Amino acid sequence: MNENRIRRRLRVTVLFIVGVAIILLIGSVAGGTYLSNMLQQLTYDGIQSEVDEYAVRIQDQINTELQILNTFSTVFEESEDLDDETLGQKLKKAKLHNQFTMLAYFDASKNGTVAINQGIKILHNVPLMSMPDEVQTVVEESLKGRETVSWLFKSKDSKETVFAYGIPVMRGNNVEGVLVANDDMKAFSDMLDGDWILQDSGYIHMVSSNGEYLIRSDRSVVTEAEESIFVQPYFDKEELVDVQTALAAGENYSFSFSYEGETYQAILRPVGINNWYLFCISNLQENNVFVYHMIRMITILFVSVIILILLILGVGYRQIYVTGKELLSVAYHDQLTGISNLIYFRREVFNRLKIKNSGSSGSIAILNLHNFKYINDLFGKEKADQLLCHIAEILKEYLKEGCLICRDTADYFYIFMPESDKEILRNKLQKIIDDVIQISKHLGSNYRLSPYCGVIIAEDEGQEVDVEYLLTHVMFALETARENFADSIYFYDVGVSSQNKMINYIESHMHQALEDGEFHLYLQPKVNLRTDTLAGAEALVRWIKKDGEMIYPSDFIPLFEKNGFCIRLDMHMVELVCQQIREWLDEGIDPIPISVNQSKLLFYEADYIENLSLLMDVYRVPPQLITLEILEGLVVENIEELNEKITRLKEKGFKISMDDFGTGYSSLNTLGKLKIDELKLDRGFLMEITKDESENSKLIMEQVIQLSKSLQISTVVEGVETEENNDMIKKLGSDYGQGYFYSRPVSASEFNEKYMNKS
Ligand code: C2E
Ligand code: MG
Ligand code: MG
Repeated sequence: MNENRIRRRLRVTVLFIVGVAIILLIGSVAGGTYLSNMLQQLTYDGIQSEVDEYAVRIQDQINTELQILNTFSTVFEESEDLDDETLGQKLKKAKLHNQFTMLAYFDASKNGTVAINQGIKILHNVPLMSMPDEVQTVVEESLKGRETVSWLFKSKDSKETVFAYGIPVMRGNNVEGVLVANDDMKAFSDMLDGDWILQDSGYIHMVSSNGEYLIRSDRSVVTEAEESIFVQPYFDKEELVDVQTALAAGENYSFSFSYEGETYQAILRPVGINNWYLFCISNLQENNVFVYHMIRMITILFVSVIILILLILGVGYRQIYVTGKELLSVAYHDQLTGISNLIYFRREVFNRLKIKNSGSSGSIAILNLHNFKYINDLFGKEKADQLLCHIAEILKEYLKEGCLICRDTADYFYIFMPESDKEILRNKLQKIIDDVIQISKHLGSNYRLSPYCGVIIAEDEGQEVDVEYLLTHVMFALETARENFADSIYFYDVGVSSQNKMINYIESHMHQALEDGEFHLYLQPKVNLRTDTLAGAEALVRWIKKDGEMIYPSDFIPLFEKNGFCIRLDMHMVELVCQQIREWLDEGIDPIPISVNQSKLLFYEADYIENLSLLMDVYRVPPQLITLEILEGLVVENIEELNEKITRLKEKGFKISMDDFGTGYSSLNTLGKLKIDELKLDRGFLMEITKDESENSKLIMEQVIQLSKSLQISTVVEGVETEENNDMIKKLGSDYGQGYFYSRPVSASEFNEKYMNKS
């Protein structure tokens, strides 16, 4: 997982949530709109059905009136002879029982008898011409055999708005005359102005299809527009054409309009008589105030919740992003120096080498300091940490050149360089080494830092790059650089195939070689520096093949430590040592103590001590003559367990020595905790002193020797090659010396000849 991936995932999540939020937002707005539309539709439906009902009632009313006239007409039709008097009587009677404002009979010659209100007056021989135009039209139409309803007109008598009905009076198939009646609009007005119209939130006008009011409701909210409805606020110009077209075609028309800040719904519905329309208006908002509030509240709530979610998301995104970045920083960075750690380095190197696929691709170097662990002891942890940070700062400079850097544990700095030319690499690394030496001054003493590098070049062989292989083998290169004091930069030798052959040979022959006695005992003297006499010897194995070729331990011991064979080999060496001591004893020669190297695997074998004791018993060798050399690496593990084992071995009489001290991780502090008898200082100390005559190693050696003395641990300095070395370690106070200066390791027989042939 890297920053980009975290970003990508976050982005997808955020996009998803934003998407959902937008859908919810659109959904809630759409839902709100749908609800209010639905409500509006419901209102329209409500108005519509109410208006429909009124239209039917008006039609019924008119039909009833026409029905009444029809009844009269039958009476007229049945009368044989209708003289003026009889006509007058009949009309008077009919008028008495009805609400008509005028009732008249006109014969075919348009001469009429008219009954009007005001004490029911009967007028005879009234010419049609003298009647209002609307009455004339009704009579004319009805004479053609049609029932007719007139337009509205002002009655001269009652001064009210009235309209006329006409019914033909038949004699056989002929129209003999017309019964005509006037009626006022009172019944309609009552009907239209009833309190219960639209649950009291609406009112109805009656208009003609050309927009004029026929009946204007007293409840009208709109006080303007008294003449025609085809004006503001009902319609603006754009809508006017639509409404006029619909009305001319006798169709329904629904619309809404705003008046004094309120919205109203309206419907125009034809009555079905003449060109009359019912014009119904309702205040939707007033009608559904609560529901509207609810819808608005829910929509606002929804939108607020969604905005809140988006806000939380924004904050959350930031938090997750920052936390993720911090976690990544912890996971991929070295907390002390702030540069990358090995996990990040390994991945990035893999990515870089993966991309390139032609030609050489790059190299990995490890930078390390000789004796860094003592810097902690000598200058304190704080100074040592500062030093590491300074080194990181120096390395950061090289990032600009496309390099990658990281720190693993302690003073292990890795550098990846996109470069495979040895000369260029060497120059770069030498510059780094020089810069690192420069920061020695920060330690505030004469101590001079001694950096060294192991390098491996990743050759592109068209195969996938094995970063693990590079990292393991650059470590070998570092080990070699550490031992190679002449040159502080060492390039890994890629002659791996011959190395592999050697490994194959060793692994396939080791068992047979042991049986055939190809592992020989070599001895190297250990000299007492106070008396310059032989104080003991170290047993060192030599594999001498049948053809006489000698294989050195450095070629097979690391392999045996891996495959476990050193458990058998080491026991074999102990046995050879026991045989040698037995031989001395049997020959009456004073035996000297012999040190035997014991591998880590063997040391932790369950029946290790028992097996050792058994060998001692078999060869009747006092364990006091055997020193067991263990490696510093054992200390890294459980010190208590190690001490417990040491104690048991010491109880048996064995001596315990710690070999190669200075190559591992244990510091001066750990010395005090170990129950060892002897400490062997690695030859690296002497080599370093010889190399640049630095005071550092001398200083450290002195400290180690002094400390050991105070802990009653005897000291052996390994690798004494020259007289100067010998003099120096004597001055430093070491008890013993071992090295080529005194003697190389020699075969047991040569050793016996040289040193034990006392008789
Ligand atoms: P070591 O136990 O530290 O043994 C000392 C090594 O330093 C020996 O290498 C010795 O030949 C070499 N040496 C001694 N004096 C000098 C000197 O003045 N200059 C130089 N340059 N070298 C010197 P050798 O015999 O090749 O053994 C290497 C290592 O192999 C030993 O280091 C020890 O760790 C291991 N080893 C040897 N024999 C055995 C064995 O039987 N069992 C186990 N487990 N390890 C063994
Ligand atoms: Mg040794
Ligand atoms: Mg050693």
